[in-house]
Amino acid sequence: MIANVLAMIRKQSRTVIGAALLGCCFMTPQAALAADCPGNPNALGTSRTIVVDPKEHPRIGTMQYPETLPLADHEVVLTFDDGPLPKYSNQVLAILASQCVKATFFTIGSQARFNPEGVRKLIAAGHTVGTHSQNHPLTMNKMPLEKVRQEVDDGIASTLAALNGDKSKLAPFFRIPGLMRAEIPEAYLASQGIQVWSADFPADDWRHISPQRVYDLAIQRIEAKHKGILLLHDIQPRTVAALPRILNTLRERGYRIVHVVPATADRPATPTQPQQWFMHPPTETVATTRWPRIPNFVFTATRTLPAPVFADMDWRYADALDHAQRARVGAPVRTLWPQPQVAQLAPVSTLPIPAADVFRVPEALDLTLLAANRRLAQRAAGPAAGAPRAQAISARQAGHPKQAAHQIPAAAHGRGHGAPLHVAPPAASNAAVHVAKRTPRAEASAAGKRVPD
Ligand SMILES: [Zn+2]
Repeated sequence: MIANVLAMIRKQSRTVIGAALLGCCFMTPQAALAADCPGNPNALGTSRTIVVDPKEHPRIGTMQYPETLPLADHEVVLTFDDGPLPKYSNQVLAILASQCVKATFFTIGSQARFNPEGVRKLIAAGHTVGTHSQNHPLTMNKMPLEKVRQEVDDGIASTLAALNGDKSKLAPFFRIPGLMRAEIPEAYLASQGIQVWSADFPADDWRHISPQRVYDLAIQRIEAKHKGILLLHDIQPRTVAALPRILNTLRERGYRIVHVVPATADRPATPTQPQQWFMHPPTETVATTRWPRIPNFVFTATRTLPAPVFADMDWRYADALDHAQRARVGAPVRTLWPQPQVAQLAPVSTLPIPAADVFRVPEALDLTLLAANRRLAQRAAGPAAGAPRAQAISARQAGHPKQAAHQIPAAAHGRGHGAPLHVAPPAASNAAVHVAKRTPRAEASAAGKRVPD
């Protein structure tokens, strides 16, 4: 059913677009299908041709590299290595022709030397021809540059020789034998403007497996990725046996074959977006680990600018530099935060030590204070009760006026005059006591100092 629908679409497309577009590198998929495949209306066909610039994308194939060809879903590119070998390569050419599909062949130089006609047949059939070294060494990953250069250059020269030196017929595409990639061959090929082709899926057709197994592996691996570069070998009988079924299955499952050609001065690369070169382009809904590359800055001049001075800088940075300099030379480090302001008093502002007589209380003042206390005490006690007590106090204080005034315990004062005298009740005598305590003598005595008399 699906095959019938596809056939209908192809027939309609052929009718609408017609033969005017035949031979154009940018044919629409429908126009290319079967339109140029006489005798096989159900041919798989070549859906479109894309033009790639090796300099923009020097390494492709997700078996080894991040990028691959900018294919859409269900688009496959066919590649064949190690030929030409007439016995099998010619059969592969016939199978491809029967389906009207275009592929890319990576020839071995020594094979081209033996079978130059085989190279010319590839070109004549419209396929793309790249190279695969001169002798197919499986040690390119260990080779020094000179040996790599020799293998690459000789392989190209041998293939070109089969094409009478016509470089326009040879694509700057290269597949490293055995996919033994390494930086030296990759760097050399890139320096020559040659694109390194890995693959997206092999079919293991170089192994001693059955054609059925080759078919199964090819289809399973294509179905796993839904698009990509298929790696085959046109020198293997199992490949010849498996190829018709592979192409038929691809057609039945809606796959399309894409032809790839290199960009030239007259043939610009097919416009693409960078994400198209990834097997699974990142989307906004899927996290990606492919970070942007660091820009490659190119400086137009190398003159040295004059060193800035501290005054040109923000004060904080200038201060930080000053801080570092001070630390280096051992000078006191100045912190970045505000300094505590320590008052520096001039010597002349120092007060003189007070003289001893400053603290001397005149006897007359002492007695005055005592009298005041006495009156207060009498007033608090009342006239009846206060008189005898006041007289007794007065009699005792007459001999020891200072003791009463200071209210200092005799033992603490060191004079041995007995118990202190309470000249008045606390509530009533506060004022008088307060006055007495504020005298220098009282303060000094309270601090345990001996006050000079
Ligand atoms: Zn090979």
